Amino acid sequence: MRNQLKHFINGEWVESTGSETYDVINPATEEVIGTISMGTEEDLDKAVAAAKQALPSFSQTSKQERVEMLERIAAEYEKRKDDIIETITDELGSPQKISEKVHYTMGYNHFSQAAESLKDFSFMEDRGGHTVVKETIGVSGLITPWNFPTNQTSTKIASAFAAGSPVILKPAEMTPFAAIILTEIFEAAGVPKGVFNLVNGTGEVIGNGISSHPDIDFVSFTGSGAVGKKIMENASETIKNFALELGGKSPLVVLEDADVEVAARAAVNHIATNTGQVCSAATRVLVPSKMKKSFEEAVLKVLPEFPVGDPREDNLIGPLISKKQWDTVQSYIEKGLDEGASLLTGGTGKPDGLDQGYYAKPTVFTDVQNNMVIAQEEIFGPVTTIITYDTLDEAIEIANETIYGLAGYVIGNDPENLRKAATGIRAGRIKVNDTEADFSAPFGGYKQSGIGREWGDYGIEEYLETKTILGFPS
Ligand code: NAD
Repeated sequence: MRNQLKHFINGEWVESTGSETYDVINPATEEVIGTISMGTEEDLDKAVAAAKQALPSFSQTSKQERVEMLERIAAEYEKRKDDIIETITDELGSPQKISEKVHYTMGYNHFSQAAESLKDFSFMEDRGGHTVVKETIGVSGLITPWNFPTNQTSTKIASAFAAGSPVILKPAEMTPFAAIILTEIFEAAGVPKGVFNLVNGTGEVIGNGISSHPDIDFVSFTGSGAVGKKIMENASETIKNFALELGGKSPLVVLEDADVEVAARAAVNHIATNTGQVCSAATRVLVPSKMKKSFEEAVLKVLPEFPVGDPREDNLIGPLISKKQWDTVQSYIEKGLDEGASLLTGGTGKPDGLDQGYYAKPTVFTDVQNNMVIAQEEIFGPVTTIITYDTLDEAIEIANETIYGLAGYVIGNDPENLRKAATGIRAGRIKVNDTEADFSAPFGGYKQSGIGREWGDYGIEEYLETKTILGFPS
């Protein structure tokens, strides 16, 4: 059991002032794997006071000192590789391969990238008549979801540290143990006391508390749109700065000259990775009408490359995070059938032989209209939709008929058409073919997918204020 009944405040593990606890469940076994304390407003106040006290000295540290601190964190993070992989496999149900390739690696890259971005970052610009200075925004509150326990936390913490901002982190209740390992990493890396504070707790108490706290200057939130709206409301009370990374319903546009098997593999990979619980997953696959049949055949051909099952074995698709998420996915599959979409593969119920654990069947709907609920709402599971188009203009129009704008994907060969689709889709990140991830590139959404950008130098900017000095003394 991985119990942690304390919070990390002002450089030490301290007892919770409340008695409420939360049992964390391994979604592959449905067994409790540990218990954490749910913090109180008093715990949060202590953490905010510690961060506020640390602010003057931390914000005045030199760029070089913070670069070295981030490099020490990256080095300590590497030492905990096996723990991180095992913990994420247990608390999220992520297959070991994905825990390593995606979760572990993303966390590491955010710390090392922040160190690199900081080296080149300019905090002062002489603009002739005046000087513009970038200063730490103050104390930051970070609220993160369960689907990427090291990615969401690390990108926020790394950027805040690079900018000299002390933080209070409230991770998701369902996946708190990766954040506890991160806390130990910061202790080992010598992060000054009060600069990093961890308060576990509910969204109701600690989440609301962070977004309305008068001594928190900036809130960075990743999660659902519904909670994002609540954060904006709460932040308005103190005119607090905020950044929101919310949901998506991203399009994958398959061009006429695309290799059909490559495109089908990409489409399946989107719902396989993290069991489709990815904000930027492509879940609307736009396919030329004349390619529909061959694309469907290719999907059925490549699907067995993504086995579903025990995350500790050699599988690529694990369970969903919870019974609640499993129920939600089932009801969307039923809704798709009610709406008249056809099942190419999958459907409701559990895959054969996987009765224990929150496993869902990888499900591909075809004959989907873009105005159907399954094409408009984020399902957050291994479910995708095939929508046909006749011209590229029509494909771009369909791609943009959504309240979201987090990501877009284009697969094909003709450079003009690739460029046209990449520039035509209104979203914060477009990926052309199988391009590698770039951790220095900004990440964030248009429309209801969010406000602000994370990763690299754009991420650091979020934690800074801009000051103009007229008549800077020479
Ligand atoms: P959620 O919004 O329910 O919870 C996210 C976090 O907010 C949790 O820590 C939760 O405890 C907290 N919270 C809940 N109520 C709160 C309140 N009233 N005030 C403040 N905090 C509160 O989301 P989730 O179910 O954990 O995550 C799934 C959602 O996250 C999906 O919509 C997904 O698209 C989105 N997401 C977005 C990105 C992105 O980068 N854009 C990345 C991952 C996930």
